[in-house]
Amino acid sequence: MTTDSPAASPAPSDFIRDIVAADLASGACQRVATRFPPEPNGYLHIGHAKSICLNFGIAKEFGGTCNLRMDDTNPAKEDVEYVDSIIADVRWLIAGWADEVLRCKADDAPFFASDYFGQIYACALTLIHAGKAYVCDLTAEQTDEYRGAPDRPGRPSPFRDRSVEENLHLLQQMRAGAFPDGARTLRAKIDPHHPNVWLRDPVLYRIRHTVHHHTGDAWCIYPMYDFAHCLSDSIEDITHSICTLEFEVHRPLYDWLLQHLAVPSPRPHQYEFARLSLTYTLMSKRKLMQLVTEGTVSGWDDPRMPTISGLRRRGVTAAALRQFAIHVGVTKYNALTEVAVLEHAIREDLNTRAQRRLGVLRPLKVVITNLPDGHTETVPAANHPLDPALGTRDVPFSREIFIEQDDFAEIPPPKFFRLKPGGEVRLKYAYIIKCEEVVKNADGTIAELRCTADLDSKTGGATSSRKIKGTIHWVSAAHAIAAEVRLYDRLFTEPEPEADGRDFRTCLNPHSLETITAHLEPALATARPDDRFQLERLAYIALDPATTAERPVFNRVITLKDTWAKEAAKG
Ligand code: ATP
Ligand code: MG
Repeated sequence: MTTDSPAASPAPSDFIRDIVAADLASGACQRVATRFPPEPNGYLHIGHAKSICLNFGIAKEFGGTCNLRMDDTNPAKEDVEYVDSIIADVRWLIAGWADEVLRCKADDAPFFASDYFGQIYACALTLIHAGKAYVCDLTAEQTDEYRGAPDRPGRPSPFRDRSVEENLHLLQQMRAGAFPDGARTLRAKIDPHHPNVWLRDPVLYRIRHTVHHHTGDAWCIYPMYDFAHCLSDSIEDITHSICTLEFEVHRPLYDWLLQHLAVPSPRPHQYEFARLSLTYTLMSKRKLMQLVTEGTVSGWDDPRMPTISGLRRRGVTAAALRQFAIHVGVTKYNALTEVAVLEHAIREDLNTRAQRRLGVLRPLKVVITNLPDGHTETVPAANHPLDPALGTRDVPFSREIFIEQDDFAEIPPPKFFRLKPGGEVRLKYAYIIKCEEVVKNADGTIAELRCTADLDSKTGGATSSRKIKGTIHWVSAAHAIAAEVRLYDRLFTEPEPEADGRDFRTCLNPHSLETITAHLEPALATARPDDRFQLERLAYIALDPATTAERPVFNRVITLKDTWAKEAAKG
């Protein structure tokens, strides 16, 4: 591994950071406290990575803190497996960058909205006492129907004018388990006709007789997101509660609840930014879950998944994801970002940190006939062209080598500067060879090439500076190790897998995973899990956790060039 992280970039600037800076300057807040509040109903994806980088980044830049909080108010969909994966993913993404701003509970566990169920329930009682909440017997469908829509007026619930005593009694009965799921709700008493639908007496509590992963069977009523979220922020003394744009219409409710509950000052405030959307990528836990449950991918951490765990397994570094987040920035307008932007960030990051190695993915045997039988030597190869301090290693070279099938053309197209019958090419770090004979199998396929080497053309030799247009990579056949290499490609063939109401399953890329046996230079036998390498002229690779001493398994993190751009250019 070369450098640990790319050179520090200038601190990002955007409208949310401007607000934070202004709040500190005006004294509206004395310190900055943000939070990252995922619902543990799936694994985190690259969209969440953007939110993590924003919330932790702001806390770090302004000397504040960032809470990790499970927003766990919907027990039916949540699970400890997701809690554990979220903790691991967040810690991985901030490691060595913002660990010091992460705030957890005393036992190092994340905060849980469900830890506040007692306080939230007390707030419900307070609202009832103040005449600001009532128990409603409408079904979910009726509630929707009464509420109306932005273009359809709302009507008051027939249960809106229950007495404080009756509401208190009914809520206590709801909590005691007297009613089945869906029989009643607690609703805020705001305004059934409000132009903002979210203020038309929103539901605050619903009945769910479900065991909760964190609170067990302590509760059979659960607060809604809007009720739990503002209170959790207030309980944790959050100053800036940052979420995505869909919640802009919820903000008046966030403020209404905190105001009517008279929470201590300074009250937290909500700010919204545009969520990340990427081409060729699904960005929703629910849909990613479908890929997992239907077996389209091997799991949440399948290296083709846009999950943080999938990207990590693939070999993408946390620094690359952070750099990507800075690059896409924080705006107020939803937009679709090209996945090529992410791929570019991954290449830039790996280019600086990955040592170079030689490996052949699709071997074509070459025999160098003017070297004696059994001839073996070593040639020095630079570990990193941009960092001479990383030195060189000795790569075994011998009479029989493998080159890439693509690097030979029997009938070469125009401007083909690699190997062709009668042509010359330079073997990187070694000799110039000339193709003298193409040996075929009975079925007409190529068995091997017989070549001669210009034995003075190695570095330091008499003809070492002889100009040859093409340089190709190679490995010594006898010394190469066989390794499984998993070649990944985009999961979808369409930039917007769900455009025009399409089912994303109809545009899955059948070639998103190809597994091959590659021939790699022996130095790669000692690769460690954290290492990243560039196979020269081909790709960046990293070990997969499935690797064993007998059979190394590498993931192709990414090709060196954008192969899709080439396809697009061909039209
Ligand atoms: P999903 O629909 O994928 O489950 P979500 O918004 O329901 O996403 P949460 O677990 O509620 O997921 O999100 C936790 C935090 O991450 C929230 O603050 C949310 O705004 C943010 N977030 C989720 N998706 C994105 C995204 N695509 N881009 C930026 N931030 C996101
Ligand atoms: Mg959600």
